[in-house]
Amino acid sequence: MRFPGRLVLLGHPVSHSLSPRMQNAALDSAGIALRYEALDVEPRLFDQTIERLRAENAAGNVTVPHKERMRVACDSLTPLAEHVGAVNTFFVDDEGRLVGDNTDVGGFAAAVTSTLGSAPVDCTVGVLGAGGAAAAVLAAVESWPGVVAHVYNRTPERASILCERFRSVARAVDDIGAIGGAQLVVNATSVGLHDEAMPIDLALLSPGSAVVDLVYRPGETAWVRAARSRGHRASDGLTMLVEQGALAFERWFGVPADRRAMWEAVRTV
Ligand code: NAP
Repeated sequence: MRFPGRLVLLGHPVSHSLSPRMQNAALDSAGIALRYEALDVEPRLFDQTIERLRAENAAGNVTVPHKERMRVACDSLTPLAEHVGAVNTFFVDDEGRLVGDNTDVGGFAAAVTSTLGSAPVDCTVGVLGAGGAAAAVLAAVESWPGVVAHVYNRTPERASILCERFRSVARAVDDIGAIGGAQLVVNATSVGLHDEAMPIDLALLSPGSAVVDLVYRPGETAWVRAARSRGHRASDGLTMLVEQGALAFERWFGVPADRRAMWEAVRTV
């Protein structure tokens, strides 16, 4: 790939994002004289922005609401991004082609390993949600021996369509109570992002199960705090955020990302 001429986060809105603090800490630590900028791109300006970024050999990340359009705008996708069907990271390759990648899968897997102390084996993961983040969760599940997933979504058809794509490990369930028997329960919805709403009633969960919330908020999400107070091992989306960012940094620059500096940058917010 070409050394990035510019590093950006594409979203709308993006001002709340922790990624610039985190990536700039990693850039400083590696002595790379680039800044990572949050670029607020209105949907009507998306196509022209992509053309400019391609010409600038830009690399970066994509967030709501541009993930789907970015997947389509890319000239090629890595096998993982193709499989997941979602792009959160991009760069320009040696031939000048825009390449879409996915580091959410690795970010999620690292968050689970850090929460449980090791990668899961021979267990059931309960997944709430059926969007791009849930697809990344299912791709991670595929990599764990003997692990299967039960997926519940507010709109059941989306869960069925998603599980069909990951049919060797995933099954859609119509009753949220069916998630409660899982050893690991993952919130891959946006519930709890802006308020104290809970994605699932904690009383439904098995004692001893662990919870991983992909959502993060200052002071952790209400679900994670409540889960921990009930004795569950629990973590919010900050671990995944740092790890997906570190993996993206390593794709762009081919050198290790300073995860400790990245953590320090987001933990102090
Ligand atoms: P997405 O494709 O828009 O999917 C959103 C999901 O949330 C859908 O399953 C949707 O259900 C569900 N949902 C939204 N509001 C709901 C509500 N009020 N009640 C029940 N379900 C609701 O988004 P995504 O990209 O998958 O992201 C999902 C979440 O993961 C976001 O909050 C995002 O911030 C987080 N995330 C975190 C990281 C990280 O690094 N920590 C990385 C990626 C994503 P319907 O299908 O019924 O609409």
